[in-house]
Amino acid sequence: MTAQREQLEADVLIVGAGPAGLACALRLANLIKAHNASGAKPELSAENIYVLEKGREIGAHQLSGAIMNPKALAELVPDFEKSAPLDTPVTDSAALFFTEKSSFRFPITPPPFVNTGNYVVSLNKVVKWLGEKVEAAAVNVFKEFGGAQLIYERDGIGGVITEDKGIDKNGNPKDNYQPGYELKAKVTVLAEGTRGSLTKELVAKRKLDNINPQSYGIGVKELWEVQPDKIKPGYVAHTLGWPVPSSMYGGGWIYGLSNNRVSIGLVIALEYADPRFDAHATFQKWKTNPFVRNMLEGGKLVRYGAKSLPYGGWYSMPKNYFDGGLIVGDSGSFLDSQKLKGIHLAIKSGMLAAETIFEALKSGDTSAKTLSAYQTKVENSYIKKELWKVRNFHQGFSHGQFRGFINTAFQQITGGRGFIDPMRAHAGHEAYKRISGAPAEARFAGDGKLTFDRLTDVYHSGTRHEEDQPCHLHVADLNTCATKCVEEYGNPCQYFCPAAVYEMVKDGAGQKLKVNFANCVHCKTCDIADPYQIITWVVPEGGGGPNYEGM
Ligand SMILES: Cc1cc2nc3c(=O)[nH]c(=O)nc-3n(C[C@H](O)[C@H](O)[C@H](O)COP(=O)(O)OP(=O)(O)OC[C@H]3O[C@@H](n4cnc5c(N)ncnc54)[C@H](O)[C@@H]3O)c2cc1C
Repeated sequence: MTAQREQLEADVLIVGAGPAGLACALRLANLIKAHNASGAKPELSAENIYVLEKGREIGAHQLSGAIMNPKALAELVPDFEKSAPLDTPVTDSAALFFTEKSSFRFPITPPPFVNTGNYVVSLNKVVKWLGEKVEAAAVNVFKEFGGAQLIYERDGIGGVITEDKGIDKNGNPKDNYQPGYELKAKVTVLAEGTRGSLTKELVAKRKLDNINPQSYGIGVKELWEVQPDKIKPGYVAHTLGWPVPSSMYGGGWIYGLSNNRVSIGLVIALEYADPRFDAHATFQKWKTNPFVRNMLEGGKLVRYGAKSLPYGGWYSMPKNYFDGGLIVGDSGSFLDSQKLKGIHLAIKSGMLAAETIFEALKSGDTSAKTLSAYQTKVENSYIKKELWKVRNFHQGFSHGQFRGFINTAFQQITGGRGFIDPMRAHAGHEAYKRISGAPAEARFAGDGKLTFDRLTDVYHSGTRHEEDQPCHLHVADLNTCATKCVEEYGNPCQYFCPAAVYEMVKDGAGQKLKVNFANCVHCKTCDIADPYQIITWVVPEGGGGPNYEGM
């Protein structure tokens, strides 16, 4: 189909309205306001900043623990405490060790788990609040629009094309067909969060990769309303041990919110040997530890979600500037995997990008040379300080927890250097071992009260997609799924997907892959963890996906 696309031109186009993209928009709008008020030339306009968000609302696709270090927000909105939805300050930081039947609290909480001065928040609410500020600053925010294709220009990019709307599942236009817009901009900021679909393509095409490929984790989360007195607001615990095998990297969290709500979840590094490992089922088992079971008893599940996060850190950071563009937030690897914190780094990277863009717009030069000032700003900021200290942290766990803790201890006393610096990493999907032929365990069913199957959980994610549209999970070779993958890895997509999207169904004497794309919670795990790297996640029709209200 050859579409007649409407063209729009902006000064700045920001793809993704998460903490990074919105911080970039707000900081730039504020700089422009002060610049124009001073009478300086050239006059700039915040109306020439466009923000695209694929979710149906700002914040709908935000999922995080979420403990927020407020320092970047304080720089962005100095009086943030007056109006930001901060929920509750952290009052107690615990580290717990779990076995199947018991738990104990470490007498001293290891420093990375200490959260004094931070807030437990709903990231969905914080991002909504930030979105309102951005809109009030006259920035144009387009919800339900996904950036679907990059417009390549010079040695970088010149904008994006949004997704076509109103196409049926066979690729034919429906009555409401609307071709995507061609949005051109002097500077395009990729703020797509973890495993951005456009960022992935750009990094590969322009060879922006660092010495290590990006590593990822998957976080599976539930929000519960519990009986009064089961948990204090501001109580924060991280758990180690059961049921995460010691060969793997991962752990749980329990964060007490106001109004008897608690955020619980488990994160697992997406680099494990067993292709039948199931992070969702492991999280459900984790809830049966007596400590968690007792806390949740008499309570009810409110929301569910899952999302990947970039674990690679400094040595996986792509080159984040190029002709006509910058990468910010999780897309640019600005996450501290030791502390599981990316919100403040996303905000700070967005602000530094805005300051760089502001200078570039004034000079009329948006080449890579001018935009490289972003890298210098990052290196001179606390982003580098924080990420440099943990530059080898995640790689240190590639041979299991025992060696991981020894590596961490040595890195701690050597300022992050550890035994080897830089410590190299492999892409997580390369860690799978072939299946031995043993039959797979029956799928986890849950008891419907404390533990749930994936479909029940997906129901609580508020996920919705228009069913009559092309599948947004592109499997390049279905034959590989039905033959080679069955024998070699037992179709790990059925296990790693926390939303029951992938299913092997009977097909004559064999099996074939069924993709229930409407369940997709946009966690991107399939794009990351497929052993043959033949699954590509692309943006569905805008507005599709989860609704992480209050998460
Ligand atoms: C399970 C889990 C727990 C976490 N816990 C914590 C924590 O306790 N504390 C902490 O500080 N950090 C935590 N993080 C990390 C934190 O959530 C991220 O670092 C932060 O949200 C990154 O912000 P961002 O703006 O880069 O990306 P995101 O918050 O992911 O926002 C990106 C936005 O871009 C949109 N988007 C993506 N692609 C497109 C496209 N092509 N077109 C249009 N829109 C698009 C998405 O819908 C989304 O709204 C956690 C992350 C996870 C997954």
